[in-house]
Amino acid sequence: MSIGTGHYDLVVVGGGSGGLACAKEAVQLGAKVAVLDYVTPSPSGSVWGLGGTCVNVGCIPKKLMHQASLLGEAIIVRPTNLFCWDYCVIAFRYCNMGKKYRFAIDHC
Ligand SMILES: Cc1cc2nc3c(=O)[nH]c(=O)nc-3n(C[C@H](O)[C@H](O)[C@H](O)COP(=O)(O)OP(=O)(O)OC[C@H]3O[C@@H](n4cnc5c(N)ncnc54)[C@H](O)[C@@H]3O)c2cc1C
Repeated sequence: MSIGTGHYDLVVVGGGSGGLACAKEAVQLGAKVAVLDYVTPSPSGSVWGLGGTCVNVGCIPKKLMHQASLLGEAIIVRPTNLFCWDYCVIAFRYCNMGKKYRFAIDHC
């Protein structure tokens, strides 16, 4: 297949977990591969890059938020005095969380 001026053995539609796994496998077998990814914007206009649902809005953000909530629960709900931890201010900052998981996603 040819796209623009390039010729490809395989064109993968969708750059999520499935599409990228397929593309990487084909490259290892010597194929020249193109990946086409398009994200329909959400009602508020959010889009994302390669990685699909899992990386951008699914598994990875969910696991980061789950871990954050476990840490919060351990600190706030459990009797921390028992283990000699003392603290002045504990606050969950959602906007920082968003920036941090965006950084983690962009660097994984
Ligand atoms: C909140 C949440 C949590 C999850 N947690 C887990 C988990 O912990 N463990 C787990 O195993 N799975 C989890 N999943 C499921 C996992 O995210 C999906 O199974 C996985 O992302 C599917 O991969 P995919 O490549 O088939 O599709 P996607 O990752 O959705 O990728 C498809 C890509 O193709 C693009 N696309 C669609 N149509 C077109 C088109 N016409 N042209 C070009 N591009 C197009 C899409 O925009 C997208 O980028 C979770 C899902 C959600 C929503």
